[in-house]
Amino acid sequence: MRKEEAVNLTGEKGRTRFDVIVVGGGVGGWVAAVASARNQAETLLIERYGFLGGTATAGLVGPWMRFTSPQEQLTTGIFEEFRQRLDRVGGIKGTTFDFEKYKRVALEMVLESGVKLLLHTYFVDCRTEDNVIREISVVNKGGLQRLQSEIYIDASGDGDLAASAGVPFTVGREKDGLTQAMTLMFTVGGVDFDRVDAYFKDNPDDYIHWEEDVDYKESGVLCRAGFFKAVEEAKKKGKLDQEIPYLFFISVPTDRIVVFNTTHIHRLNPLDPWELTEAEIRLRRQVWQIMDVLKELPGFEGSYLLQTATQVGVRESRHFCGEYVFTGDDVRQARRFDDVIARGNYGIDIHSPELSEGTRVEEQPAEMSYDIPYRSLVPVKVDNLLLAGRCISADHQGESAMRIQPICMAIGQAAGTAAALCVREKCLPRHIQVALLQKTLIEQGANLGKQT
Ligand SMILES: Cc1cc2nc3c(=O)[nH]c(=O)nc-3n(C[C@H](O)[C@H](O)[C@H](O)COP(=O)(O)OP(=O)(O)OC[C@H]3O[C@@H](n4cnc5c(N)ncnc54)[C@H](O)[C@@H]3O)c2cc1C
Repeated sequence: MRKEEAVNLTGEKGRTRFDVIVVGGGVGGWVAAVASARNQAETLLIERYGFLGGTATAGLVGPWMRFTSPQEQLTTGIFEEFRQRLDRVGGIKGTTFDFEKYKRVALEMVLESGVKLLLHTYFVDCRTEDNVIREISVVNKGGLQRLQSEIYIDASGDGDLAASAGVPFTVGREKDGLTQAMTLMFTVGGVDFDRVDAYFKDNPDDYIHWEEDVDYKESGVLCRAGFFKAVEEAKKKGKLDQEIPYLFFISVPTDRIVVFNTTHIHRLNPLDPWELTEAEIRLRRQVWQIMDVLKELPGFEGSYLLQTATQVGVRESRHFCGEYVFTGDDVRQARRFDDVIARGNYGIDIHSPELSEGTRVEEQPAEMSYDIPYRSLVPVKVDNLLLAGRCISADHQGESAMRIQPICMAIGQAAGTAAALCVREKCLPRHIQVALLQKTLIEQGANLGKQT
């Protein structure tokens, strides 16, 4: 870890105009801000919480899903730099990471890049004229404020800025507008990893066998989705919600701690504040139900609830109309695009909006990688806006694959770089020279599967 510099934000007080404003300091947003600032744009990053990382930290969501193929590492660039820095402070084990160290390293990278950071600040509205965003309104302890920039990046996950600027969108899946199930993540301490591992070795029919299963003894990472019998019994006795399919947990780098990705709520809209509140209430109840069931399971006898996520995890919400809509078919066909700005090989992964439909995971052969085209970051109708993270233009199935964190981070790097180039070249995102963007990304470490 480099020496941390003194913090002095006084000079920023009262300033309202920047080259680039990034809304949302989550997985895609903080990377977008770093990329923009490193490419010489005066960049402001606003975030509603008091820390960075979004779903990765506030949501307690990890590990990183696939970012390599048998031939090469697909996601490199700022993601890889971050991964190595996190490693140096003991923040990763395999593909799992420590949530607090994530916050620390992301914050240092943002500050080192020269990004102006405004925390505890919520985007609420914007004013557009002739298809151009003229200013945005944010609310924070200082009240309601207006901020301006040349280019805006929406990395809010739900696409709050793009929606308010008038970019056309749909919500959820095409046939009925329902979104993927939501999950409140939580960490549990006091877990006896050896005992849990021994139980599953003795009961191989009590968990799901995935292609990418890792052996705990070899990797030190404990990951299982199962305890089917215990879950069914608890449901019969009325001790567990019907919506919980099985118990799914993975260890974090700290010994004896696992994170659970197992609560589930269906048919609620994450964009409706009342339904989001209902989701929080019902999922927080599920957490305590699960804790009661856990006490009786091998390896969890001495376990305790360590922390629930700051907010429920939202897998899907708005799908915007962009210059290109990335689709499930692009994933299955491992489609390549001339305007590639990120790559992935994670398959379609849908936690169905309907309880009866379960979870649908289509294993994508690891050697079949697809491209994310730059056009999916460029919304129609609004000229000075870029999309980053899960809110790029994608359909229900396409988003279910590209939403994973490594891809969102690569998209963030591309959006931030594109925004800075637009400022420098005095052009709009839809008119950018894609070859220049790709050359810059490659020079700055991105793997686009080609030289330029
Ligand atoms: C339950 C769950 C499990 C998952 N499991 C995995 C996994 O195991 N591995 C994996 O790689 N991926 C996983 N994912 C997917 C992945 O974590 C997300 O898709 C990804 O983090 C999305 O990144 P993002 O930058 O678009 O959004 P986020 O990371 O959510 O960032 C959005 C940011 O914007 C801020 N924000 C939102 N609205 C506003 C506003 N109006 N004003 C100011 N700030 C705002 C938020 O606070 C947040 O910091 C999972 C997702 C969920 C929900």
